[in-house]
Amino acid sequence: MKVAVFSTKSYDREFLEAANAAAQANHEFVYFDTSLSPQTVSLAAECAAVCVFVNDDVSAETLKLLAAQGTRFVALRCTGFNNVDLKTAAELGIKVARVTVYSPFSVAEHAVGLILMLNRKLYRAYNRVRDDNFSLEGLLGFDLHGGTVGIIGTGKIGMIFAQIMQGFGCHLLGYDAFPNSKFETIANARYVELPELFAKADIISLHCPLTPETHHLINANAIEQMKPGVMLINTSRGGLIDTEAVIAGIKSRKIGHLGIDVYEQENGLFFEDLSDSVIEDDVFQLLQSFPNVVITAHQAFFTRNALTDISKTTISNITDFEQGRPLTNEISYQPQVLAKSPA
Ligand code: NAD
Repeated sequence: MKVAVFSTKSYDREFLEAANAAAQANHEFVYFDTSLSPQTVSLAAECAAVCVFVNDDVSAETLKLLAAQGTRFVALRCTGFNNVDLKTAAELGIKVARVTVYSPFSVAEHAVGLILMLNRKLYRAYNRVRDDNFSLEGLLGFDLHGGTVGIIGTGKIGMIFAQIMQGFGCHLLGYDAFPNSKFETIANARYVELPELFAKADIISLHCPLTPETHHLINANAIEQMKPGVMLINTSRGGLIDTEAVIAGIKSRKIGHLGIDVYEQENGLFFEDLSDSVIEDDVFQLLQSFPNVVITAHQAFFTRNALTDISKTTISNITDFEQGRPLTNEISYQPQVLAKSPA
């Protein structure tokens, strides 16, 4: 099948080609660096399928243009589908499939990495030592052992994250709209309602999908309820956080540390080398300026293991569609189950 692959980087090509060859699938991939949007749809004119990533625009407008040119399948190279208008896709008869599962360790371990980086100020220590500055002033951290970690979303990634943090000797407070019985089998883990999680957690890590219900879950009201000096970690989706409210929380010293791998306005910033450009996003620039904020550019998924899983599933999704087989990873438009679906 001929597939237009949008937002491609060298690593996407490498892993997709390897998986295509390993499965002897013989799909013909046409790679584009640019993202999918109404302005770039025509690049996929001769393709029955498009393959997209987290920040591609798969809105109603894009889908209508895709349908008009005969494209019938959207293969997401990610678990999240908050960028896809599923209702319009269903109306147009366009099928959408995603990578339901790939190494959840990749994201969970990155969240832990952000915690350690902030907790022990490793980002500052690294630069200092390179500058022959061996002073410890300003690097004082705190033990994770005995601390309380709030985990919002206890699905695949949240559960792995919980197990790792349990290994550090932390108490775990979970919140999930659909609790799973395994969470409370972890030592020192229990489910609580959000107000208790906000009030008691020293570290709060977000692992729920972005849905209308979770949009700006971390807002001024939530921050108000948190412990002074709380550490906030977001490796899930930028829209979970009201960035302006978080900036106010940092300024008021309520938020002591912020580690984010995702940012609400990341589209157009992340995944690109803008080191020679003037970044006009003042909110992002302000965030960058704080000494207690660490930002990574949506790299939590970026391990060899995860990319192998993603490519393998993407190839099999495209093959299933091509051969008219049931799409095991299809995302169908079912409003009542969307909130439970991973994003
Ligand atoms: P998952 O579906 O296994 O887990 C999500 C959990 O969130 C589920 O237990 C679900 O019940 C819960 N949930 C749903 N609605 C909720 C709500 N309103 N409040 C609280 N909990 C709610 O998904 P996962 O594989 O663990 O992925 C979690 C998130 O991580 C994804 O939604 C995605 O946005 C993000 N992610 C980020 C990266 C990255 O590179 N930064 C990579 C993969 C996934």
